[in-house]
Amino acid sequence: MSLKSKQCEAVKVVVRCRPMSRKEEASGHESVVQVDVKVGQVALRNPKAGPGELVKTFTFDAVYDAGSKQSDVYDETVRPLVDSVLRGFNGTIFAYGQTGTGKTYTMQGQWADAERRGIMPSSFEHIFTNISRSKNQQYLVRASYLEIYQEEIRDLLAKEHGRSLELKESPETGVYVSELSSFVTKSVAEIEHVMNAGDRARSVGATNMNERSSRSHAIFTVTVECGQPGPDGRTHIRVGKLNLVDLAGSERQAKTGARGERLKEAAKINLSLSALGNVISALVDGRSSHVPYRDSKLTRLLQDSLGGNARTAMVATLGPAACSYEETLTTLRYASRAK
Ligand code: ADP
Ligand code: MG
Repeated sequence: MSLKSKQCEAVKVVVRCRPMSRKEEASGHESVVQVDVKVGQVALRNPKAGPGELVKTFTFDAVYDAGSKQSDVYDETVRPLVDSVLRGFNGTIFAYGQTGTGKTYTMQGQWADAERRGIMPSSFEHIFTNISRSKNQQYLVRASYLEIYQEEIRDLLAKEHGRSLELKESPETGVYVSELSSFVTKSVAEIEHVMNAGDRARSVGATNMNERSSRSHAIFTVTVECGQPGPDGRTHIRVGKLNLVDLAGSERQAKTGARGERLKEAAKINLSLSALGNVISALVDGRSSHVPYRDSKLTRLLQDSLGGNARTAMVATLGPAACSYEETLTTLRYASRAK
């Protein structure tokens, strides 16, 4: 297998289109997105053009339509990645898209409803079920949760979560967040508890929770350590890391007339999302000798979980309505460049 096809396998880019919202339906918006699940294609029609005209099509590793189930996304796109984490590799899942298109729904969903549980609860379930079935192996699962807001890192699990933490680098551990707290969790209930605590911290201090969460990247990291007796009688330890990333909204802020602090904030969001796009596209390309990890905190922090032996999946989310045509086109272009 060539390096390029190996790399392609390591990075999966999929697209998910949410259903029309009630509000969009009520105001009579037409749908401009057509998803062909069988061939993995999304067709986008320019609403300003006549019928049948100017349709752009994009192909991905998989596409999910409005009727897709959470378990479809999990089984096809996420499960193999979590399996590799259990075998001691690193993996990262990103949700990318405009605010309101289903990033958080895809990552978290509704926990109480089994049908609507998203990637995070399903991966927790997957990890702990696997552990409970294992023999001769000892596992240690740790969780940490941080937010990157305006290129500053904050620990969502610390008592004092307002403090900005530093990224450091050491030859043994690579890039890490200094003083980031982590919690050992022994069950799905415990790890969910940790995650809920972080989500609550995320909303504190924000005048409008949705505002803040749409402008920051949230990274929940599960570290799975597995100890197994080797043929030499000693315990061998392998460590896999799973990063679950709900990215900041990809909408272009400038168009909303942002000024001053807001504009600076927008520039930083755009910077880290474009840095991520550049890293993923360099990895997919496989020929680039230089992968620009250092261009943002997000890519530096995830460096050891993107590329190399690590697996990456990006779920780009979209809405079907004509009114978000421009943003949808931008998302499809970003995602197909990452592919
Ligand atoms: P984002 O995190 O990208 O801002 P949300 O995940 O909050 O967007 O989704 C916005 C709204 O759309 C929520 O009410 C959510 O429940 C709904 N939604 C998103 N994706 C889907 C989907 N695939 N199926 C059903 N409802 C969805
Ligand atoms: Mg969200």
